[in-house]
Amino acid sequence: MSGGHSIEDFFPGHSNPPRLRIRNVPPPPLEAARPEPEDLDAALAPVVDALAGRTLAVITGAGISTDSGIPDYRSPGSSPRTPMTIQQFMADERWRRHWWARNQVGWHTPRTAHPNAGHLALATLEERGIVTGVITQNIDRLHARAGTRRLVELHGRHDRIRCSQCGTHFPRAEVAEWLDELNPGWVDAHIKDAETAPDADAVLTETASFRVAPCPVCGGILRADVVFFGDTVPPEAVVAAAAMVDESEALLVAGSSLAVASALRFVRRAHRDGRPIAIINRGDTRADEFAAATAHVSTSRALPWLAERLPAPEQ
Ligand SMILES: [Zn+2]
Repeated sequence: MSGGHSIEDFFPGHSNPPRLRIRNVPPPPLEAARPEPEDLDAALAPVVDALAGRTLAVITGAGISTDSGIPDYRSPGSSPRTPMTIQQFMADERWRRHWWARNQVGWHTPRTAHPNAGHLALATLEERGIVTGVITQNIDRLHARAGTRRLVELHGRHDRIRCSQCGTHFPRAEVAEWLDELNPGWVDAHIKDAETAPDADAVLTETASFRVAPCPVCGGILRADVVFFGDTVPPEAVVAAAAMVDESEALLVAGSSLAVASALRFVRRAHRDGRPIAIINRGDTRADEFAAATAHVSTSRALPWLAERLPAPEQ
């Protein structure tokens, strides 16, 4: 996979990004990838032992959406990427032009993706009273579309835009129409061969001619309703996620290496309070030391398997 890029490649002279709150972490080398186990029963037996009969909060990351065709740029062997920070975005119109030009193409990837067996299994487990809710780092909306009812989207959602000045929200589809009018033919010219990332960023280099739309209410700067790098997770999302972990008897991490600290803190919290933790992820994670069980299995195989076997918690 090509596509390693950084914003500094396109705008030299801005090589010192400000201190980041949400920090970008380079992916591990390809050698870190684990082969998918053939014997699912053996691989997942420790996970069942750790979780059976308990209510579960679930934390998910990009790994649960790769089987829906949304690339995970932190999986082993991926090219390093340096996504734009919110400070860059807000500071300079060229960066905003660059972001919107790429997102206008890239947002079609999550929009047209479908929830996979992993997302659906978590919705089933919630229906059966085993999963209390899902805390996700993904902005792709696939948990909501799979039927998960109690959902904390730590990093926001790709399908919503908000004004940085007056706070008005707009559906991404509506903003897409404004941008199509301002930039006729842009999407058709680029969508076929553009590579996209999980943050709905498409890799395009020529973006200087793109025309950006201001907020129609106040003329302010429009931004995605997502947590950029350098941004902070909204406090209400942190509170809702912590409450979900505290109410649950165990914690399951599915499809996240926990490279971003916004989710790792909830694993630490569960561990501090003595809740058993199980991790299902293709590679190693930053929380393996806290886990009662780890399984290196893809979530679209492991979660349906668990949904069939985990017994309902005793009331
Ligand atoms: Zn506004």
